[in-house]
Amino acid sequence: EVSPAARRSAELEAEITTDPSRFRILTGDRPTGPLHLGHYFGTLQNRVRLQRSGVELGLVIADYQVLTDRDVAEDLQEHVTGLIADYLAAGIDPDEAMIFTHSAVAALNQLLLPFLSLVTVPELQRNPTVKDEISHSRQSGVSGLMFTYPAHQAADILFCKANLVPVGSDQLPHLELTRTIARRFNDRYGPVFPEPEALLSAAPLLLGTDGAKMSKSRGNAIMLRSSTEDTARLIRGAKTDAQRHITYEPRSRPEVASLVLLGALCSDRDPVEFAESIGRGGAAVLKAEVTEAVNARFAPMRARRAELAADPAYLHRVLRQGNTRANRRAEATLAEVREAMGTDYE
Ligand code: ATP
Ligand code: MG
Repeated sequence: EVSPAARRSAELEAEITTDPSRFRILTGDRPTGPLHLGHYFGTLQNRVRLQRSGVELGLVIADYQVLTDRDVAEDLQEHVTGLIADYLAAGIDPDEAMIFTHSAVAALNQLLLPFLSLVTVPELQRNPTVKDEISHSRQSGVSGLMFTYPAHQAADILFCKANLVPVGSDQLPHLELTRTIARRFNDRYGPVFPEPEALLSAAPLLLGTDGAKMSKSRGNAIMLRSSTEDTARLIRGAKTDAQRHITYEPRSRPEVASLVLLGALCSDRDPVEFAESIGRGGAAVLKAEVTEAVNARFAPMRARRAELAADPAYLHRVLRQGNTRANRRAEATLAEVREAMGTDYE
């Protein structure tokens, strides 16, 4: 059975193929660590593909959002340049994409206050992704930012008037809030914003080696840049189950299914067929095959990433250029917002 979001994503793909110039993407990542295979198959691969097909692409490095689930954002410099290296290694074109950080675009934050006025406290409180993140939070208490960052994220998306957001399924509640904010703003003050839509990939929720969502901060992730040895070690330690026969049954056997899916995605095969090819070989053969598929698939990207990471001055230039463009666009949108709200006094 197909979820409504997946069905809508398939329709969107057809619309994008017909007219890519109608679409503008904004999506992004928190600089909490290097990107992993969940990012790649959940959203990064789509970003690269859509950019190549002619869709305009903006990428926010959500540095203020790091503070939602921890008290201090650590190693930001390293994580920010690391993310840019991951983007470019994966095939993002830095001359076309607008890559920027939250903290460099002050005008974007100006949208947060009117946006917060458009949502109710219960709407912020019942967000299932926020609840899940609170349960894994390392923060001493639950901060106000934890509940309000989805509204801040609406500002990221809406200041550049993006209408397409390639994301993993954990982001669907946030995107719903962005649509609500856009709709209510337009109703109250006049039409300024598009109502953006989520674009899911074939792997909207890749699981990590422990069977939970693969996640930078949960220690269960295989990174784009991981070495072949680390990849082998991580996959060897992955959780499976007691059944010897390997099948692809995401509902009843999530851990095995996620390994199968990873192997299938890396070798462009169908997961059911990938599972059948292992059959009675059991978890050991499955893990060996998945390791080989991951290492073969990512070898060229890993080599490119190592080269890019060796030139931080270049990565900083890419960011500077993106920040300049983002500021220009944010100022333009803020001017429209001021006019619509009647706060353009001078
Ligand atoms: P953190 O643990 O620090 O929150 P994260 O791994 O959740 O890191 P984010 O920066 O929060 O990564 O998410 C960036 C983007 O990647 C989002 O669009 C999110 O939906 C997507 N994404 C993250 N993890 C996965 C996953 N396991 N499967 C599919 N998509 C994912
Ligand atoms: Mg996250």
